[in-house]
Order: sequence, then C-alpha cells, then structure tokens
Amino acid sequence: MERICPKCGQSSKDVEFVGEFCSNCYPIEIKCPSKVEVARCSKCERLLGPKGWVKESEFNFDLLLRRNCKGKFFDAKFDTVNGLAVFWVKAGSTDVKIERKVELRIQKGICSDCTRKTGGYFEGNIQLRGEEKKVQKFAIKIANVLEKESFIAKVEELKEGIDIYFGNRVAAIAALNKFGLPYVRTEKLSGERNGKRLFRTTLLVRLAEKKKE
Ligand SMILES: [Zn+2]
Ligand SMILES: [Zn+2]
Repeated sequence: MERICPKCGQSSKDVEFVGEFCSNCYPIEIKCPSKVEVARCSKCERLLGPKGWVKESEFNFDLLLRRNCKGKFFDAKFDTVNGLAVFWVKAGSTDVKIERKVELRIQKGICSDCTRKTGGYFEGNIQLRGEEKKVQKFAIKIANVLEKESFIAKVEELKEGIDIYFGNRVAAIAALNKFGLPYVRTEKLSGERNGKRLFRTTLLVRLAEKKKE
C-alpha cells in the first residue's frame, strides 16, 4: 500500500519509508548541547581529556562529543573548526546523516605539571658524575626525555658534574633505564604535607670512562 509522508508529502513509491514517515522526515531525537567545553593549559597548551592532559593532536574530539550527546546514533564526528556535529543514525535500512551546530569552547586552565613547575616543585635530582664530555652528552639526552614526559625544575652545572632536578621520579628512573645507566638511589626526608612524609630522591649516576683495550 502506498504511504504518503505527512511532513513532506512524498510517496512510498518514490522514497524509502520508516514507519509513518519518509526516511528524510523520520523524527530522530538527538540531544546535544549547543556548546561543549574543554580545558586547555595556558602554559603547555595541552587539553584535558578523560585520561589526563594530552596534546591537541592526540585529543579525541569525537569521543568528547559522544559523551556530551544522547541519542540513537551509531557514529558521531565533531568538526571543531566549523562548529558542526555530524551524527549517523539508522532509519530503516538507510543511514541518515544529521548535523547540529555545536560550538567548542576552550576553557583556560593550568595543568598539574605546569602548576608544580611554576611553584618550584621537584621530587629529586639526577647527579651525573664522571668524564665531562660524557656527563654533558647524557645530560642533554636525559633532559630531552624528561621535558617530553614530565618537566625539569632546574639544571645545575657543578665542578663535579651536572645535577638535573626533576618533577617526577618515575619519569626520571625511566629515563635512566632508557639509556641503560646504572644508578644509586637515596631518599631524603624533605618535609611533610597533609600528614604525609615527603621524600626527595637522589639518583647518582657514575659515567665510567671507556677502558682502553
Ligand atoms: Zn518526508
Ligand atoms: Zn601545562
């Protein structure tokens, strides 16, 4: 039997129908806000995602959209440049694309790493000792890794070597392991915060000179 779409007047002989309506007019409920917010660190420019602070290139905007919207869509894409949310919905046997205006709002914030960095916070230091050229070479390598993974509070060039003050001891140990550098670890009580004892970690690295054969 022929059906006529009550909204646009098209016939079921010409277009596909879903229930009472043609697939174009089939009412689809998608609830999404007109604005979606995300925090950006004003120091390092990373964005706050569900798993913490990440670079913009690694941020999943589609997931952010899906988490903020409700409806029977099977896929969603967030075109943040044009402020457009695109949803795909099954209407009968066809896939219908629905667009909504959704603005991406950037909230200014500051991430935990940058807060600590600006506060002069550090968890300990790496002491590089040994032959000067080797010390300098490894200081640069280690600093590069630490800047990427966490942060460096300061670097001190001393007569006896170089001290790198790190913001995260897990990242510091990982960096030494990455270059296969053995170290001696010592912990020193540095104070107390909220009833918890705080320790500073020193990782002493002796860079041995190459033996002559
Ligand atoms: Zn219609
Ligand atoms: Zn930051």
